[in-house]
Amino acid sequence: MDIQSIEKVELHQHVDGSIPVGLTWDLMRKNNLAPVDSLEEMRKLLVVQDEDAGEGLLVYLKKFHYPLWVTQFYDNLLQVAYAIAKEAYANNVKLLELRYSPTIHTYAGLTPRQAIVAVLSGLNKAEAECPGLETGLIIIAMRHMGGHIAKIVARQAIAESQVLHRRAGVIGFDIAGAERGNPPRLFKGAYTIARKGGLGLTAHAGEDDGPRVIWEAIDELGCTRIGHGCSSIDDPELLRRMAKDKILVEVCQTSNYQTGAVKKGQVHPVLKFLEYGIPIAICTDNTTVSNTNQNKENALLQASLTAVGYDNDIAEIHRLAKAHTFISR
Ligand SMILES: [Zn+2]
Repeated sequence: MDIQSIEKVELHQHVDGSIPVGLTWDLMRKNNLAPVDSLEEMRKLLVVQDEDAGEGLLVYLKKFHYPLWVTQFYDNLLQVAYAIAKEAYANNVKLLELRYSPTIHTYAGLTPRQAIVAVLSGLNKAEAECPGLETGLIIIAMRHMGGHIAKIVARQAIAESQVLHRRAGVIGFDIAGAERGNPPRLFKGAYTIARKGGLGLTAHAGEDDGPRVIWEAIDELGCTRIGHGCSSIDDPELLRRMAKDKILVEVCQTSNYQTGAVKKGQVHPVLKFLEYGIPIAICTDNTTVSNTNQNKENALLQASLTAVGYDNDIAEIHRLAKAHTFISR
């Protein structure tokens, strides 16, 4: 089966890291903000370069600096969400969960609620043009802002929950950003609010810290999905637990090598997840920053499976992942 024709489920993709380079360039110029003189120079600022790869999470996160210049305005946010959804659809993604943190899009005066609604409007515009496409938005609290701001973010998120919308709405809650020094347990209050508000729960965990933070995300925050989860392979008991309770891992292969979550030359943990019977979703994380897309990530996994002689079916992986979506309408 060719990769393009597989119906895909995208459960972990960031707005800021996935804006098409050409659109960022157009918006930069339209808003008189362009920091460089050409599209090619802009591309270098937005996409991880070979010399950056494997340099660690914080070097990777630097690529998120420039998109924020233009995503402070309602119409720009609408346009970028629309463009990202259209690009995913072109890769035959039929179910798309985007995610982002509204608090870092309020510097020009948008409220967090407006910042959320802007993205939802872009998703609805894409749904209207793309038959069969279902979308939803996961709201992220930035770890470095701490547990109190996270509670405020959770309340803003549930106020735009999917149950209040006819089409795309907020479907889930997440924490992201620097892992070390900001363990999941600090965000328990925010997750309680999100859970009571009916949101699905996931967390970036085990990307830049050990298995302990994945245990915390599951046991203390109540997460049913984990973003990355790479360090779980150091803890067989944790792997058994994730398999038993069907905790899905949102797997982002290219991104993991770029951030150093998986070392160059190391086999990606996704094979171990499949061996243990842990549900997975094949995800892009950031199509622009990581210079990837759904087709590329699927082809990468197919190649890894073939290399070790596994016969897991990529289309079946997507069908199983669909059962773990936070979208419910
Ligand atoms: Zn992520």
